[in-house]
Amino acid sequence: MNTFKSFLLKYAEIGVKGKNRYVFEDALVAQIKHALEKVDGKFNVRKVSGRIYADAEGDYDYDEAVAALQKVFGLVGICPLVQFDDNGFDDLADRVLKYMDMMYPDKNKTFKVFTRRARKNYPMDSPEVNMAIGEKILDAYPQMNVDVHNPDVKLNIEIREKINIYSEIIPGQGGMPLGTAGKAMLLLSGGIDSPVAGYMVAKRGVTLEATYFHAPPYTSERAKQKVVDLAKKVSEYTGPIKLNIVNFTDIQLYIYEKCPHDELTIIMRRYMMKIAEHFAKESGCLGLITGESIGQVASQTMQSMLVTNEVCTLPVYRPLVAFDKQDIVDIACKIDTYETSILPYEDCCTIFVAEHPATKPKLSCIQKSETHMDEKIDELMKQAIETVEVIEVK
Ligand code: ATP
Ligand code: MG
Repeated sequence: MNTFKSFLLKYAEIGVKGKNRYVFEDALVAQIKHALEKVDGKFNVRKVSGRIYADAEGDYDYDEAVAALQKVFGLVGICPLVQFDDNGFDDLADRVLKYMDMMYPDKNKTFKVFTRRARKNYPMDSPEVNMAIGEKILDAYPQMNVDVHNPDVKLNIEIREKINIYSEIIPGQGGMPLGTAGKAMLLLSGGIDSPVAGYMVAKRGVTLEATYFHAPPYTSERAKQKVVDLAKKVSEYTGPIKLNIVNFTDIQLYIYEKCPHDELTIIMRRYMMKIAEHFAKESGCLGLITGESIGQVASQTMQSMLVTNEVCTLPVYRPLVAFDKQDIVDIACKIDTYETSILPYEDCCTIFVAEHPATKPKLSCIQKSETHMDEKIDELMKQAIETVEVIEVK
């Protein structure tokens, strides 16, 4: 049997949402239920006066449950609870001593007892329980000491219908519950940055859709599979992602044929944004998301981003805009996309890059270069949109 019968699930930011609070709490409860469905075991998730509990019904896989809860946006702490019926103070003291012994084999620790008495007919008040339990611990484990200001162990005792004790708070993801902030379209490539960008925006409660541009036969089936795999990794946090896969080959070849090669990347990116925005609007997204960061490559200078932005009417969210590469890599490792991102299969951008791409494009010059293309480009765009392949990734 599991030591911990239940989890107290702590949330922070949504606590301050005033009248809409229940919307956020309900969304969080829904996400918790959804996350625990994949775990071996059955749980009853309930909201009780500003707190959320997940009670196990029978045996369950503890590690799986914690791992699943650690992926839920909106949770800041996961507290495994020991829970039992009230059988008087001596029984409580006995269980606390066993708990402390199990959790802290090394007794060289300071502690503080913090009691909350929700059931007011309990014969002792909270300070009395704190004192009495504190004494029991000191008697049983003389190496332990009380520190009320900065204890190593904060032992929480909650007296409700049942009694809960806990002292561990396993860190959660933070952020806002999924589905509380609208939808956005992620431009997802096979690189390191865009999966991280999608994860970060989703962490604020935003539902993701994604668009990937490939250029067969210049890009391989494996490059495409890599992007599907990345979307799958991201979806472990964000829930299912509708992934649009757009064949970009003919557009790229046409741009290559008609426009100056040092402007290829930037013009290509403008067409990517246009097409992504088309799908975004079609499905009610409120913005686009990219993995760009100022100055990282030629197409990500302030000048380049100004020029790419110009084709969009939706806001473009760039959560990594001020991040150093290493900070992005750290997050990619944390969310487990890094190993997939560094697989060598090439994306379309890397194939048609000029040797010396323009780093400070001027909008007027780019617009002029684009006039070298005739209506054929609109036809190709239409074709690319019509032949989109849609995959539901989960
Ligand atoms: P990433 O690591 O995300 O690929 P990057 O450093 O390689 O980024 P670029 O290739 O300049 O940078 O791409 C910048 C952004 O444009 C990406 O973060 C992504 O949002 C979008 N993007 C680039 N290539 C594609 C593609 N083939 N399909 C969809 N989006 C793309
Ligand atoms: Mg890239």
